[in-house]
Amino acid sequence: MLNFELYNPVNYVFGKGQIAKLTDLVPTNTKILLAYGGGSIFKNGVYDQVKAALPNHDIVEFGGIEPNPRFETLMKAVEIIRAEKIGFILAVGGGSVIDGVKFISAAVNFEGDEADILKKRILFKDVTKVIPFGTVLTLPATGSEMNSGAVVTIEATQEKLTLGGSALFPVFSIVDPTVITSLPKRQLQNGVVDAFTHVMEQYLTYTHDALLQDRISESILQTLIEIGPDVVENPSDYKLASNFVWSATMALNGLIQKGVPSDWATHMIGHELTALYEIDHARTLAIIGPNLYRVMFDTKKEKLAQYGQRVWNIQGNSTEEIAEKAIEKTVEFFHKMGMKTKISENAENIEKTADFIVNRFEERGWKAMGEKQNITLEKVRAIVEMSY
Ligand code: NAP
Ligand code: FE
Repeated sequence: MLNFELYNPVNYVFGKGQIAKLTDLVPTNTKILLAYGGGSIFKNGVYDQVKAALPNHDIVEFGGIEPNPRFETLMKAVEIIRAEKIGFILAVGGGSVIDGVKFISAAVNFEGDEADILKKRILFKDVTKVIPFGTVLTLPATGSEMNSGAVVTIEATQEKLTLGGSALFPVFSIVDPTVITSLPKRQLQNGVVDAFTHVMEQYLTYTHDALLQDRISESILQTLIEIGPDVVENPSDYKLASNFVWSATMALNGLIQKGVPSDWATHMIGHELTALYEIDHARTLAIIGPNLYRVMFDTKKEKLAQYGQRVWNIQGNSTEEIAEKAIEKTVEFFHKMGMKTKISENAENIEKTADFIVNRFEERGWKAMGEKQNITLEKVRAIVEMSY
C-alpha cells in the first residue's frame, strides 16, 4: 500500500429533513451569500426549505451559476462578496454550483489574476485565505459535497480546468436523498455514470496490495450497477435514492483513493469534449472510458480481469478474455443508463477533435497522464479517434 494522509473535515449531514439543520450550521455573525444555479431550487421546494431554516440570517442571493460553471459568471459573485463584505457562502445545487462556490471562495482574497487559479493550478491550503462555505446538495454525482476539488470553465478560451486544495473542503454538506425526486431522468443517468467512473479512475489501474481499497471500490461499483437502472425510473424510492446518494459521495470523497494509484485521464480527456461541444460531463466519460481501457489494455488487463470477475462475475479461460468481456459489460451498463458512447452520437463536425485535444494538451505541457504516466499524447489521439 502507498503511504497516505487522510484528512476530511466535512461535517456530512445525511437524511430526510436535514435541510432544517441549516439554522444551526450557518453562522449568524456574518453576511451570507446564498449561491444557486438556474432556478431548479425554486421549483422543487429546496429554496423554501433553505429560507425557512434561515429566518435570522442576513442573506444576499446570487443565482445563475450554469452547468459547467463559468469563470466569467463566478467573478460577478466574487465582486459582490468583496463589496458587501460577506463572510460565508451557502451553495445550494449540484456539482456545478458547489464547484463554482469553491472557486468563488478561493478567488475573493486571491492577489493577482484570478484566472491563474485555474491556469496555474494554484493549491489552496490556508483556510484563513478562503471564504468558508457550506453546501446543500441537490444532485448526487460529483462528490463535490465532500471533497476539495472543482472544475471551472473559462468561456473566453473554451478551457475547462481544475482547482483545489485542502482549504476548499465544505465546512458542512447537507445531503437529503429526497431532493433527487425532481431531477430529470437525464441528470439521474448522468449522476450514476459520473460516480461509477470516479470509482473506475481510482480502481482500474494496476493490481496492487491495497486489498481493502479494492473491496470498497468494488462494492460501490456493484451498488451502482444494482440500483442505477432502477433509481432512474423511480427516484422517489427512498432505499434506491439513499443508496445512490451515499454511493456517489463515497466514490469521490477521497477514501478509496488513499494508498492506491489513480488514473484520471478519462476525466481529463472528457473535460475537453465538454469544453468543445458542451456534452454533459458524465456522457463524455461514457464515451472515453471504455476506449481508454481498450487502448491501454496491456497495462490495465490484470485489473480489468479482477474487475470482471469480482464485479460482473465473468468466467473465462484467460486474463485477456475476462478483461475484454469486462469492457463490453461496462459499455452495456452505460447503454442501459441511457448513454450514447460515441462522440458522433453526441455532437456534430467532430473530425478534428483528436487534433484539437492533442494540441491543447501540448500547449499546456501535458506530455502523459494515467497511473503509469504512459497515456502519451499518441495514446490520447488513439483513444479519441476510437471514440468517433
Ligand atoms: P450540475 O451541472 O450541477 O446540474 C445539472 C442540471 O441539473 C442543472 O441544470 C441543474 O439545474 C439541475 N438540477 C440540479 N439539482 C436538481 C434537482 N434536485 N432537481 C431538478 N434539477 C436539478 O450537475 P452535476 O453533474 O452535479 O455537476 C457537473 C459538474 O461537476 C461538471 O462541471 C463537472 O465537470 C463537475 N465535476 C466535479 C467534480 C468534483 O469533484 N468537484 C467531480 C466530477 C465532476 P439548476 O442549475 O437550475 O439548479
Ligand atoms: Fe466526474
